[in-house]
Amino acid sequence: MRKTAVAWLVAAGCAAVNVAHPASSATVKVTPLGGHEGEFCPQDRALIFEDPNGTRVLYDVGRTVAGPNDPRLGKIDVILVSHMHGDHLGNAHNKAPNSGSCEKPDTSVSAIPNSSTVNIALAKKAKIVTGSEMPPFFANKLKANGGNPADSILARFGGSVTIGGVRIATVTAMHSNGLDPAYIGGELGKAMAEAGIAGDVGLATGYVLRFSNGLVAYLSGDTGITADQERVVRGHYAAKLTVMNIGDGFTTGPLEAAYVINELVRPNAVIASHANEVATKGGKVLPGTKTEAFMKATKVPVHVPLSGRTMEFDENGKCVAGC
Ligand SMILES: [Zn+2]
Repeated sequence: MRKTAVAWLVAAGCAAVNVAHPASSATVKVTPLGGHEGEFCPQDRALIFEDPNGTRVLYDVGRTVAGPNDPRLGKIDVILVSHMHGDHLGNAHNKAPNSGSCEKPDTSVSAIPNSSTVNIALAKKAKIVTGSEMPPFFANKLKANGGNPADSILARFGGSVTIGGVRIATVTAMHSNGLDPAYIGGELGKAMAEAGIAGDVGLATGYVLRFSNGLVAYLSGDTGITADQERVVRGHYAAKLTVMNIGDGFTTGPLEAAYVINELVRPNAVIASHANEVATKGGKVLPGTKTEAFMKATKVPVHVPLSGRTMEFDENGKCVAGC
């Protein structure tokens, strides 16, 4: 009788473990599309997140994706745009992957007035998911270029949408979000440019993604330190992996970003982003860089987004391959 009870408890314990980790072998693949293969360069923003079910999400196209024909893109289902500044929306880009050097990125191809984001969305028939008041801008650009305006989808603060099994929510980012009048054009765009004012498309955002293996990832966008990083990103969403902008000047610098990670979000791992510097040589972090300062100040593993090198994360945000 006693032996049977013990056996039952052991069996129940094993069952509980299996239920808690139903998809522990399934990983989310993260691939940086940066300016130079194997390095982390000043303009690098773009990351592809691939859900275990195959859904591919492109975050902040920026200037290092060589337009819709960049062979590194493959299938793209969803594009995220944290805010409208040219280094995120993609006002210009390189001629081809790896054109130019890490130090002097090639941004010779203009994407005005569409943006690289819209050009890629049209070619890939991808959905663009944004928060704030950005969706009407993308809907009208898609429509004006023969695309489907319904492919621009809203996820405003506190709400979420699920596309291809990936749940997408936006969260606050303490930043600005002016739309360059060059996207507006005409007499109005000209007058705005002359007056030095930008179009109002609401607040800048960050994102929280929940993948089908259970991994929750916080993508900071350009932001300062916010109370929401503790109360919302950790308190409600419980993000286990963070992509954190560390460039200083425009966003949190390395020490502010480390505070966000160590004290507010407290994920299990972080991918550095938006360093605005030549951070690596031969794939190794250079001494004296902001990236190095961030790594030294951060208590959890910091992964450097080397262009073209895929990292794989489990449901707890632990890198299990490629880091
Ligand atoms: Zn910005």
